[in-house]
Amino acid sequence: MLEERSAGAILYRESPDGKIYLLLNYPSGHWDFVKGNIEKGETFKETVLREIREETGITDVSFIDGFENKVEYHYQRDGNLVHKEVVFFLAKTGTEHVKISHEHQGFVWLNFKDALAKLTYKNAQNLMKKVSELGFNA
Ligand code: ATP
Repeated sequence: MLEERSAGAILYRESPDGKIYLLLNYPSGHWDFVKGNIEKGETFKETVLREIREETGITDVSFIDGFENKVEYHYQRDGNLVHKEVVFFLAKTGTEHVKISHEHQGFVWLNFKDALAKLTYKNAQNLMKKVSELGFNA
């Protein structure tokens, strides 16, 4: 089985209506948080900062201490089964403007409830629910 490792972030910003979270529309159709494959020699957080910059153009990012959670899944690629692990952090930005990369079809900033409903996969929804345990769903 092929092994793939990615890192990503539940990235939010403060809006007049409270915290809003960034979701991206992936080429295969699903909605998920910003993430990407770990390159050789990178720490998880370096990957996250690079992927946020490449996928959204956002460069001001600060990590919220105490949140690090792994999501695992399997998928088929060219007839091979891939086991993928993605480590997610919680991070904040002050930037509203998103310059989406060609790798994605779209983006949205949504409040906690709407983001939860928009996320395609249950494991991503469960991850988001962990954010609420930190008191972040206000
Ligand atoms: P990245 O480079 O950002 O890590 P990618 O676009 O190469 O991502 P994934 O987003 O991991 O790849 O998608 C690969 C396959 O796995 C797709 O078929 C997708 O539908 C499926 N997939 C993506 N996220 C999940 C998930 N959280 N749970 C189950 N299957 C998922």
